[in-house]
Amino acid sequence: MENLFYKKENGWKTADKEAVFKFCEGYKDFLNRAKTEREFSKEAEKAAQKNGFKPLSKFKSLKAGDKVYAVNRGKGVLLAVIGSDDIEKGLRIIGSHIDSPRLDLKPEPIYEDSEMALFKTHYYGGIKKYQWTAIPLAMHGTVIKADGSSVDISIGESDDDITFTVSDLLPHLADEQYTKKVGKAIEGEALNILAGGIPVDDKDEKEPYKAAVLSLLNDKYGICEEDFISAEIEFVPAFKLKDTGFDRSFISGWGQDDKVCAYTSLEAIFEIKKPKKTAVCLLVDKEEIGSMGVTGMRSHFFEDTMAEICLLIKGEYNEIMLKRCLSSSKCLSADVCAMHDPNYPSVMEKNNAAHAAHGVAIMKYTGSRGKSGASDASAEFVGEIRKLFNESGVLWQSTELGKIDLGGGGTISQYVANLNIDTLDCGVPLLSMHSPYEISSKVDVYSAYKAYKAFFEMK
Ligand code: MN
Ligand code: MN
Repeated sequence: MENLFYKKENGWKTADKEAVFKFCEGYKDFLNRAKTEREFSKEAEKAAQKNGFKPLSKFKSLKAGDKVYAVNRGKGVLLAVIGSDDIEKGLRIIGSHIDSPRLDLKPEPIYEDSEMALFKTHYYGGIKKYQWTAIPLAMHGTVIKADGSSVDISIGESDDDITFTVSDLLPHLADEQYTKKVGKAIEGEALNILAGGIPVDDKDEKEPYKAAVLSLLNDKYGICEEDFISAEIEFVPAFKLKDTGFDRSFISGWGQDDKVCAYTSLEAIFEIKKPKKTAVCLLVDKEEIGSMGVTGMRSHFFEDTMAEICLLIKGEYNEIMLKRCLSSSKCLSADVCAMHDPNYPSVMEKNNAAHAAHGVAIMKYTGSRGKSGASDASAEFVGEIRKLFNESGVLWQSTELGKIDLGGGGTISQYVANLNIDTLDCGVPLLSMHSPYEISSKVDVYSAYKAYKAFFEMK
């Protein structure tokens, strides 16, 4: 009768606290250096090289134990450790995304109004707009200049650096704003960033405040107004990831969706030496806006790179090799999920909610309004993962994305599953997801790392 009930337990009771805390120091440090998809991609490449991975283009052939990586346009990475089994017997893939909700600059962002220079933004991903006013923001990005050269920008991360912010209405004059629905209280076109306030000393200049900011940018980065059209500039919260709670049990900070799963899967593949099945850690962009585009999961980057790897292993290539490889593969779509929030208990159905410190969470399906848009992993595949985690001593739990008729969402899982690959969502629960200050439990972060490592080693 001992196993009749499904037991749920708080992981801190059994956790190796020292290992958990140590692992999370590395996590915070990495994320504080890698805030955007471009920065994460670069840091992942550096870490990969340190761990013995070499660029795919450097190989003439591949054999078991080789460690290889390929970068997709500076905004995504595929890392692989070649397995001893025939590649046609499938891969062990962990896929996560490295883009996060934020404010992007519009292509023509700079203007002046009321003796201030300002930037127009266009928000990226699902944000609650009211959370993005009156907080410190940092500017990150890449500008392609008229001559084709590029310049990287990162302003606002060090303590003595300047900061940026979007102003909000004072409560004294907010009577009208208070009557609006919360989604309408701040309009997208009101998310304008303060960029300067000293005019150029030239009485003939019609836009002296805008001119002053352009001139400062030109002095520092050699860029002019038209260059913003060929640029990707993101404004992200200027906070660093920090421990939260007297006992330091939680981590707060922006961008944990989904860099917490990207980091843990990266650390897991660095531990893999000679796997049976080829292990693939896939970091993609554009999940927050539907996985579209050349750097999103819907692009052919993954299959094209796997075709190259098949060719280098086998010395020859035909389409059926890749098809057999993909159809025998298994994937964990490593993405965050909602953590049960004591401040908002009504949105969760308590038996099927992820709880703090109950471990990495598997989600059989996502979607909304009757599982619409979900890939819905098979009972067989969920059974396989459950068995693996239980046998490997991984702390895990099962969850849904909140109550049935309250909303929903998706991950990259459906696009991986479309490639004829068994895929299950499996990631870290977060409080305040998509906010400028997301919260994870350290024991869950560590459990994700253990889970991903066990999956890469799965025979
Ligand atoms: Mn996500
Ligand atoms: Mn998200």
